[in-house]
Amino acid sequence: MRGTWHERFAESPDTLKSARSEQTIVPVLDLQIGGAEFITMAGPCSVETEFQLLATANHVRRAGARILRGGAFKPRSSPYSFQGHGLAGLKMLARARSESGLAIVTEVTSETDVPLVAEYADILQIGTRNMENDSLLKAAARSGRPVLLKRGMCATVADLLRSAQLILDHGNPHVILCERGIRTFETSMRNTFDAAAIALLKQVSHLPVIADPSHAAGHRELVPALARIAVASAADGLLVEVHPNPDKAWSDGEQSLDFAGFDAMMRGLEPWLEVRALELERRGLELDRREGRGLHPMEAVG
Ligand code: PEP
Ligand code: MN
Repeated sequence: MRGTWHERFAESPDTLKSARSEQTIVPVLDLQIGGAEFITMAGPCSVETEFQLLATANHVRRAGARILRGGAFKPRSSPYSFQGHGLAGLKMLARARSESGLAIVTEVTSETDVPLVAEYADILQIGTRNMENDSLLKAAARSGRPVLLKRGMCATVADLLRSAQLILDHGNPHVILCERGIRTFETSMRNTFDAAAIALLKQVSHLPVIADPSHAAGHRELVPALARIAVASAADGLLVEVHPNPDKAWSDGEQSLDFAGFDAMMRGLEPWLEVRALELERRGLELDRREGRGLHPMEAVG
């Protein structure tokens, strides 16, 4: 890694790649985030009804998603918008997990809710508005659950890594970084998707990096293209909003894919995932060569 990046990210040394830690793998049920498999997390912005959640869980699982997302505690741009079902929402998520077999990622917005959310969730999501909420980060770290840390909408890559460092410092090595779009002068999209940040994070950090094309774009038509860009930028996975009837969604309907849209996005990713697999294989062989683990010719043919 370039020395200048070491200097730039000097305040988050444990998030950076080193000879000892090239890539962190975050285990979640039977999955590995940061490994060879590209992990898609999908589901509604908010948990609304049992029917909405179960229908979405079953659909996204059949289409290849491995983790179900859904907010029970919703920080909203407007204080008058739906704030989430809280505990009732967590119970619906638990039911969806037992019916679909999908792991659950859900947001926790307050330090005092961490023990409750950690009881139900397989991954705790820290939202963009809370990336620098120290007491929440520390409580999430101490829960022992993997933490999906979203980049603050006005946070630099260094700010994001500093927050990740805080979680590592509080005894939790299982941090997943998430690029979800940042605020710029551009107003035609909800945010500006910073694909370069994904490429940079994958070069400098050993932590898994995922992309949220839904909040980045704000418009569902753009989500498949941003998802492809995420794969090409070397992301380890996606977090995507999907709803059975986006026009009736209680939150973020504009950016949510319907079932057919999700299927099309997943199909469209296939050739890009094949390229990704080849790239991983090439890098694995390179690493073998560097470390003198090359195959002997006889083993290669046998
Ligand atoms: C969400 O994932 O629904 C959410 C609120 O995301 P963000 O924190 O990125 O706005
Ligand atoms: Mn949302």
